[in-house]
Amino acid sequence: MLTNQWNNVFRWELRTRFFLRTREFLWQEGHTFHETAAEAEEEVAKMLDCYRRIAEEWCAIPVLAGRKSESEKFAGAQYSTAIEGMMMDGKALQMGTSHYFGENFARAYDLTFTGRRNEQQYPHSTSWGMSTRMVGAVVMAHGDDSGLQLPPRIAPVQVIVVPIFRSDTERSQIEAALQQVLIDLEDIRVKVDWRDERPGFKYNEWELKGVPLRLEIGPRDLAKGEVTVVRRLNRSKQQVPLGDLGVAIPAMLEEVQAGLFTRAREFRDAHTVRVDSLEALVKFFDTSIGFVVTRWCGRAEDERTVKERTTATTRVILSGSGGPEQPCAICGRPATVEVAWGKAY
Ligand SMILES: [Zn+2]
Repeated sequence: MLTNQWNNVFRWELRTRFFLRTREFLWQEGHTFHETAAEAEEEVAKMLDCYRRIAEEWCAIPVLAGRKSESEKFAGAQYSTAIEGMMMDGKALQMGTSHYFGENFARAYDLTFTGRRNEQQYPHSTSWGMSTRMVGAVVMAHGDDSGLQLPPRIAPVQVIVVPIFRSDTERSQIEAALQQVLIDLEDIRVKVDWRDERPGFKYNEWELKGVPLRLEIGPRDLAKGEVTVVRRLNRSKQQVPLGDLGVAIPAMLEEVQAGLFTRAREFRDAHTVRVDSLEALVKFFDTSIGFVVTRWCGRAEDERTVKERTTATTRVILSGSGGPEQPCAICGRPATVEVAWGKAY
């Protein structure tokens, strides 16, 4: 059984943060019930990967995906999994979760079904969710001093056209030229800004709103049969013949999408370190911020120690690894996993 709902949630949050931690938010939550544990666990992994793809392939935010520690898991879950992104200030943001409940909630609410052996049994359940926090993630992962920077695949306006004209004649010439351009770009979300404002004002405003590509078209461009295309990503300019736009623009949007992802990944990698001791971990968080990867034995006591000294918490467990010859970086006992530590919102 699968249910999915989009709804508003109201939570008691003491310290709110715009988009990231609000008392009321919109989210999508899914709940499933399965006959076997294996089926339920497959669903948990499938939904986590679905969220990873939304984050990486649509929002251009690279994420770490894995299980939460025992102390960070959802209350009542057998285990929780999450995706964690790094924002431009180096802080970690949990961007989606997927939980395996085992029979815990089914037993608590006495939910049973008749299985294929004609016996009453408890289903294995899962739940998973992603919220409007994703909007905050896009703002915080890609924005700069000029404003938003929206990944092309999710941008409501992918291309803004700014016509530059001084007379009605010039305006009509541009209008005529744009007719074919708009037909060529019918699969792209294009807007033409005809407002009676100076071009510089329009450039700033659409940059603030994070539109990925700007098309400037004036009499000089028109005389050469070209337009000037400017990327929000790095403000690089390029002359493109009018007739080529239908091919060039979709390619440039994909290029910008990939460029944003690469930049965010390089930023994350540059702010991720691997250390072998508690002292090195504390020293890192004293002077910088980001992800610290260590070997870990899994004890909650280590998490308390690290939190007391740095305020950082475990974000996700990256892999089971180690072996007895590999000591936990925090306490020296045999490590069982590799974990990422970070300061969360
Ligand atoms: Zn330890």
